[in-house]
Amino acid sequence: MATLEQRLEHLFPSKKRKGPSSIALVALIFAERRGKWLTQDDAISLMNKKFADSTIRKAFKELSRPLDVLEGHSFIDIELIRRYDKGRPALRGKLSEAAAERIFELVTPVKEKPPSSFLLINKGGKLEIPPLFVGSENNGSKWLSPEDILLLREKKIGKKQANRLLKGIADKGKPYSESVDILKDHRFGPLPSHQIRIIDAGQRELASDENRLCIGIKALVMPATDEHRKRLEAAGIAPCPSCGNPTHRSDLIRIQGTETDSCLTEYFELAKKCIHSIRHEDGSWSEMIVGISGMTSEGETKDECRKKLMNDLMIWIRDKQLNGSAIPPIPQAQFCLLSDRDRL
Ligand SMILES: [Zn+2]
Repeated sequence: MATLEQRLEHLFPSKKRKGPSSIALVALIFAERRGKWLTQDDAISLMNKKFADSTIRKAFKELSRPLDVLEGHSFIDIELIRRYDKGRPALRGKLSEAAAERIFELVTPVKEKPPSSFLLINKGGKLEIPPLFVGSENNGSKWLSPEDILLLREKKIGKKQANRLLKGIADKGKPYSESVDILKDHRFGPLPSHQIRIIDAGQRELASDENRLCIGIKALVMPATDEHRKRLEAAGIAPCPSCGNPTHRSDLIRIQGTETDSCLTEYFELAKKCIHSIRHEDGSWSEMIVGISGMTSEGETKDECRKKLMNDLMIWIRDKQLNGSAIPPIPQAQFCLLSDRDRL
């Protein structure tokens, strides 16, 4: 899978060693909003102070010039629009056809099944990339040639990145790649020491791009009326008596020793401050919520461990709600902290 960022960074490589160039990031804003006009001010507000306004204006102008990387086409088409407030018209731009073609180009399917492509990999090994079937029962058989897939991939993200992607897929194993029985399949050349075939998921990963489309939504915020409140109440949603956020009735809990209900969100926020994490030597994790005895979890990664812990906490709370038993308070954060060495 090639991300949109990878393709734009290939078109506009950064001169610095770290991070994408400002021009690649402004280009990304246009690529994410194909067919939409954006003014310089739009681009500036979308960049959210990541660069100086003048840098963004400069990138905007740069993208509207004929570019060598696009064979003399500009990345954005521009036009002037009249502004309502002041006399000076504003400049706005839209992703050009040439740029859209370069970024979103697809491999043309063929009817005849093309041959596999073979690439030499290090230590005398070979990589086989079979053609990718994209047809269906209705429109007959259609194939993507592995050679075309590789060429387009290199054109979009460069040879180095394409090789890195390919190597990653080959190393992944099933369902991305598989070892080939060399003696059975060997047809030409000296016997390679090993051969790997890219299969199903790997072929798709190699051939596909990750695209996205951003859509703007304008929202109007108005003070709530009694009617709104009634409608929300009918749906079981009311302000949390403790924090005031709209909360569903089933998510309100009564914590032992308190006079009013509070919401699950607040309880979870407090609990999270009392999590003690341990990373084991084999890289796996254990976590516990200090103050709730027995609330522990284990996982291969910290993410997995945290997900389990939060899930267990939820089940624990729901159980107590069902039994009508009181939910104990979470100790205050400062009492949860163990020694500095144990805090992660
Ligand atoms: Zn609340």
